[in-house]
Amino acid sequence: MTLDETLYNEARRARDRLEEVQIEAERARSWYHESVRRLYRAGGSLREIAQALQISHQRVHQIIDDAACSFCDARRAEVEKLIAGPGVFICDRCLLLALGVVANEQDASNDRTTIRAVAADTSKKCSFCRKKRWRVGWMAEHGETRICRRCLSVCTEIVGSL
Ligand SMILES: [Zn+2]
Ligand SMILES: [Zn+2]
Repeated sequence: MTLDETLYNEARRARDRLEEVQIEAERARSWYHESVRRLYRAGGSLREIAQALQISHQRVHQIIDDAACSFCDARRAEVEKLIAGPGVFICDRCLLLALGVVANEQDASNDRTTIRAVAADTSKKCSFCRKKRWRVGWMAEHGETRICRRCLSVCTEIVGSL
């Protein structure tokens, strides 16, 4: 049997909408965490930040402490910019490297790390949007952390606005 075209189009629109909202949510999360870190760097104490935002002390600590690039292990203080995904981070230098990996579809290195192009037959998921490679085109990979083309462009936009 063939799919009803109207229903199929509706399902496809709904899927696209959900993907947009998920990407938007990641962007909001990243912006939120970066704002908390900025508050901290500007001299706010953990207690003050926790009280002001009505979140727990531990949560503030987690947000501030967690920040190291998942691709090169650089800490927040060592890089110019660090973009957060769900439990993952990418620094501005790895972002640049990963963009090259995805554009050229081959591995690339800088002085800190090597980022690999994920092969076409994989079922691995992007660590930032959780989508499988076949849905998102080429991905850049370091260890168990991956970023897809679409998330790379979202991160590039975030870097531009920081
Ligand atoms: Zn990095
Ligand atoms: Zn992604």
